[in-house]
Amino acid sequence: MPLILDGNRIRDQIKAECRPRVERIVAGAGRPPGLAVILAGDDPASQIYVRGKTKTAGELGIYNETMTPPDSTTTDELLEMVRILNERPEIDGILVQLPLPRGVDSQRVLLAVAPEKDVDGFHPCNVGLLSTGRKGPKPCTPAGIIELLKRYEIPMAGRKAVVVGRSDIVGKPMAMLLLQENATVTICHSRTRDLAGVCREAEILVAAIGRPAMITAEYIQPGAVVVDVGQSRIDSRTEAERIFEPNRMADFDRRGSLLVGDVHPGDMARLASAYTPVPGGVGPLTIAMLMSNTIDSAERRTGLC
Ligand code: NAP
Repeated sequence: MPLILDGNRIRDQIKAECRPRVERIVAGAGRPPGLAVILAGDDPASQIYVRGKTKTAGELGIYNETMTPPDSTTTDELLEMVRILNERPEIDGILVQLPLPRGVDSQRVLLAVAPEKDVDGFHPCNVGLLSTGRKGPKPCTPAGIIELLKRYEIPMAGRKAVVVGRSDIVGKPMAMLLLQENATVTICHSRTRDLAGVCREAEILVAAIGRPAMITAEYIQPGAVVVDVGQSRIDSRTEAERIFEPNRMADFDRRGSLLVGDVHPGDMARLASAYTPVPGGVGPLTIAMLMSNTIDSAERRTGLC
């Protein structure tokens, strides 16, 4: 039986470790860590993500506030908002929820966030710290995956790791973090030749593509550790039948859709020695790591680390 890497369990551990750190900051600095979120426009998915983040922050005693400029907001207005947040001493983390409304220069807005408050780890200064192996905020999803692998004692050093996807948010930082753990890392993308052959070499396979169940049996080396970052909602019954076991179809019919990763769930369960399920694998870790990054920032900024 493969080992199921339970992201909910690790998320709960990380959250439990956050609580005493928050208390220590309150006791030492006289204030809790502070997180500010800019949620511009009315993208429903972004609203759900932000609600999840602020709810968790509240549970942990992290002060949080959400700015909600309208869809018609401009780059200049957002830059001014970021400037004010950069200067506020009680704000340790600034999160700009993506995507920003059409017409806004997202790169300029992200670049304006002070690197020491960039709890997403997206600022080029922090990307530089990561790639040179220095301390700094690490992008939450890949950092959560490393936590998961470590806490399940999955060895990384010396192993062949293949990351499919080269986004700045997941693929590239994932590869950097695996490299720091001394894995031998290959990064694949849409122009990679013989993708299945390259993936089959992987002892650790990370799929961060955004294509539902694209990674099938021919991509997976038997015994590999498979991390599935993808999250796509399937609402076509024919597509659901291709992907899911017949016993999941009742679920599909009841809900009208099902969440699926980038890896075919049946093939993954059959071939992998350990894997992250979707849902309940990588997803829960991202918010937990955001909290941890915010607390790290508060500890640094209040001199408590
Ligand atoms: P992204 O920015 O769209 O990047 C996708 C990457 O996949 C790109 O590098 C792209 O290659 C590559 N790709 C696309 N089609 C491919 C193909 N047919 N063969 C090989 N490579 C292909 O996506 P992302 O932001 O990294 O997110 C990836 C997935 O992870 C999405 O499903 C997203 O929802 C999910 N995600 C989950 C979490 C979580 O907390 N669980 C967090 C973030 C993202 P090119 O560069 O060549 O175009």
